[in-house]
Order: sequence, then C-alpha cells, then structure tokens
Amino acid sequence: MKCPTCGGDCVMEPEKVLDGLFRMYLACRSCPSDPLYDKNAPVNEKIDACRGKCTKCGRRHLDHVMAHVLTILKESRFFPADAALKEVGTPLIAFGYQVPYPPRLGEKSLVLIMDSVTEELAGDITANVPEIKGVIRRTGSPSISVGLRDTASTPHTYELLSGCDMRCDVVASTFGELCIYKNQSSIHIEFNNTKIKKIEALYINGELHGAVVLDGFCGPGTLGLLCALGGAKKVIMNDAWLPAVQNTILNIKANSQFLGVKIEFELTGYNKLIGDEPVLMAKAAGNTEILVYHGDIRKITRTQGECNICLIDTFPSVNPGEYVSLCREFAKKTVII
Ligand SMILES: [Zn+2]
Ligand SMILES: [Zn+2]
Repeated sequence: MKCPTCGGDCVMEPEKVLDGLFRMYLACRSCPSDPLYDKNAPVNEKIDACRGKCTKCGRRHLDHVMAHVLTILKESRFFPADAALKEVGTPLIAFGYQVPYPPRLGEKSLVLIMDSVTEELAGDITANVPEIKGVIRRTGSPSISVGLRDTASTPHTYELLSGCDMRCDVVASTFGELCIYKNQSSIHIEFNNTKIKKIEALYINGELHGAVVLDGFCGPGTLGLLCALGGAKKVIMNDAWLPAVQNTILNIKANSQFLGVKIEFELTGYNKLIGDEPVLMAKAAGNTEILVYHGDIRKITRTQGECNICLIDTFPSVNPGEYVSLCREFAKKTVII
C-alpha cells in the first residue's frame, strides 16, 4: 500500500510487519555494543552517520542516532554546547511495540518529536540522519492530547516539519494482532495497554461474539477494529476528528486480511475537519460489517439502532459522564475505556 502522506512504503502489510518484528530492532551478532551515553549529560564528541553503524546489518543503536541529531543541533548553534542527550526529543519507532532492549535502527525507522526545532533544521535532520523518517514539532505541554477534545473545542495538533509522520503501533491481544497506522502529528500518542485488556475481557466473557459495537471515539480505529477481530457482528466507528477517521479507514484497508473484510464504499472529496451531523465515510463487509462515521457521537446515537456494547474512550481531560448516560439509553452495556 502507498503511504497517503508521502507516497512511500510506510504502510506495510501487517503479515510482513509481524513476521519481521522479532528481528526488526534486535542487535545482530556484529552490532557494536551499547554506547552507554548518560542521557542527562552532553555527548562531547561529534557523531556523524558512520558513528556506531554496524558493518554487517547497517543499523545503529538508538543513542547513536539521537547523539547524531544532537550534534546537528549543536553545530548549528541552535542548542548550547552543554545540551544533554535527553533534550533532543521523544523518539517513536516506526513499528511500535514494547521492545525490551534498546532498539537498533535501520533507515527511516524513527519519528522524532521535538519541542525545539526549526523547519530548516528539521530538513537537515531528515536529510543527514538516515534513520529519521520524520520530524514533528510539539506544540504546548506533552500532557495535552493531540487531536480533538470535543466538537466544541479547537483541535490541538503538532506540526510535521520534515519527512513523513506515518507510523504504526502493533496491537497484540489474546485473539490476534493488528497494525494500527497513524499520522503522529494529528493523532494522540498511545502508551496505554489497559485499553486492550478491557476488550480482551469482553472477548473472554463471550460478549464480543456476534455483538453490535459502537466505538464512539474511535481515533485511528484501535479498539473498534479489535472488536471486529474478536468476533463482533457489526462495528460502528465514529470520530469527530477527520484525521482520525481517515486513519481508521486506512487501518481497515491495511488489516483487511486479518479482519476478513473488504471496503465496499468510501466517500471521496470530503474535507470537513470537525464533524457534526454524522456522515458515512466508509463501509466494509465480510466477517464483520464495519461502518465508519465522521460526526458528533451525540448525533450518532440517534441514527443507529440498539447496540450491545458502547465503548467510551474520551481524552483523559474529558469527563465521560455525559456520554455514559447517552450510551445507556441505547446500548445494553457501556464500557468506559
Ligand atoms: Zn509516509
Ligand atoms: Zn548489526
């Protein structure tokens, strides 16, 4: 599949991702050992693209990559000479899962989120540090979620300054895996594994099988698609934030083999950023019927029939109370994620 952001090969088949995942970030026998840099201290040497590169597999330790970026920031005098390694930014691996060791990185395998960077420097970083696939500038505090809090607020987004921000999180559950792709400058960064556990609990209790599920704040589609994988008969996915809906549709396509579904309808030429009256954006059929809406959840519940399960996954700063009473009216079970 072509990446919708850069036209490159950022969106890999999930089968291929999972097959290669075990070795993707693992050191080979020839990889140089951990440089053991102190993250709180400056790296007092110039790091270029050759430094730390394995002569066999061509990859580098994460710290070498970050120290290379730090060298660029210091040489341009944008960062002071005593800036520490941890000041560079937040690295997100392109195919994310909980790697239990420091990752060894190949070409275009890291999206870097930085608090302090210019567009020109971001261009220098993606041009000169081969492992970096995209540089994003963070706006506001890291505690503010990226995306749309609710339909009445202004969306909070980061800025993609250079390269591509498409990356994926590998979602592993007791009943299978999915690769959830997301444009990281406009989608909330997810580290929360307990959400998956709640869907697993529904599966284990036999509640997912044949169920009709509404995922009213679907984001890039993680939980709704997991319900489809777990045997739901119908999944209605909705988000008021267009980039989330677009990522959901991409994830249905990317995971279509695992889900056993095919897209039957997709709305094109639509670009309203914040949803209100629900608009059907895509429909997929097969093992599960999946409907993807762009709209306000309060209006979605009026247009759909009764559901078995309603998932409420609001931003941490939003009180889910209003949505809980809404969902109780038409769903047998409401799960606050
Ligand atoms: Zn891309
Ligand atoms: Zn190696």
